[in-house]
Amino acid sequence: MAKDLPGLIMVFTGNGKGKTTAAVGQAMRALGHGYRVIMIHFMKGRDYGEFLSTEKLPNLTIVRAGRDDFVCRDKPDPIDIELARDGFSQAETAIMSGEYDLVVLDEINVAVDYGLINEEDMLKILREKPKNTAVILTGRNASTELVKMADMVSEVLAIKHHYEHGAECCRGIEF
Ligand code: ATP
Ligand code: MG
Repeated sequence: MAKDLPGLIMVFTGNGKGKTTAAVGQAMRALGHGYRVIMIHFMKGRDYGEFLSTEKLPNLTIVRAGRDDFVCRDKPDPIDIELARDGFSQAETAIMSGEYDLVVLDEINVAVDYGLINEEDMLKILREKPKNTAVILTGRNASTELVKMADMVSEVLAIKHHYEHGAECCRGIEF
């Protein structure tokens, strides 16, 4: 087993495409060296290609903490709140257990921004996490406090996107 990962807090945010796939890329990198990884995907229920291509990998656990539908920002459905809170509780257990070297909390920034998860609860876990557990948090509108606390923050800037000239959501590119 390789030596412990440094317990970095890393954030991928911004309005451009590439945040979740960056986090999946980091997970692949860590897995290749034998690190134990869990990815918890908030507000997602459909079969993303990355779930399908990685579901049989040793050392990787994937949790879908959402359903395959849009969440209404102003009035989220109770089921969306329940799924996000259940995902958050699994995230807390995974982080505090020390059983994973890397914990990916995909779209958690959006879940916090939409009020599905309490921001202070998230910050508390990050403050109290084991020293050698790295955590990646993705999603637009990362909170100011999270950005302050994180070791690494990358903002993906949208220059242009294929949706703007008529392309549709596409299997293999978007999911
Ligand atoms: P990916 O999952 O491809 O890495 P992402 O995590 O950065 O993208 P999200 O903000 O989670 O993107 O949004 C999900 C979907 O919205 C993406 O699949 C993407 O194609 C689409 N999207 C991302 N950025 C833009 C944009 N600037 N304009 C229109 N659609 C976008
Ligand atoms: Mg994403």
